Amino acid sequence: MRPPVSAYIALGANLGDARATVAAAIQVLDRLPDTRLLRASSLYRTAPWEATGPDFINAVAEVATGLNAPSLLRALQAQELAAGRERPYRNAPRTLDLDLLLYGDARIDSPELTVPHPRLWERAFVLQPLAEIAPQRVPAERLQAVAGQGIERL
Ligand code: AMP
Repeated sequence: MRPPVSAYIALGANLGDARATVAAAIQVLDRLPDTRLLRASSLYRTAPWEATGPDFINAVAEVATGLNAPSLLRALQAQELAAGRERPYRNAPRTLDLDLLLYGDARIDSPELTVPHPRLWERAFVLQPLAEIAPQRVPAERLQAVAGQGIERL
């Protein structure tokens, strides 16, 4: 068996009881196959970014997983579907969005998966919770660069 890999997952929701959705989704990560939750950030509230609808609730979680990166992505997509996500159009309001931010130190560029996540460094709602639980993975100048984006720690 391969040793577990530390992976960081961004969670976001902006429909229904988004706070409860994200809190429950963090716990579900602990029940993915061969995967265990190591730590989770606080919840954060942000205005929609390139999206419509109510404010988003965001968080980042770290898992230790024996799944390879494509299998982890598929497990996250299954979890999104189970949370009732519908995708009528791009960036539609969503029940639950899960993104694979980092998978160990891997660099992956395949049609279905890019790691580190291509928009990781652009968004305060990803960088701030990531910096809360993994400050060593977020250079201070990266955090500084998104400091103007409105985000509230709950
Ligand atoms: P989204 O609508 O933001 O959830 O994007 C989902 C799409 O992005 C899927 O088709 C994935 O295959 C693709 N994708 C590429 N890289 C990643 C990643 N690191 N995490 C999640 N989805 C990814």
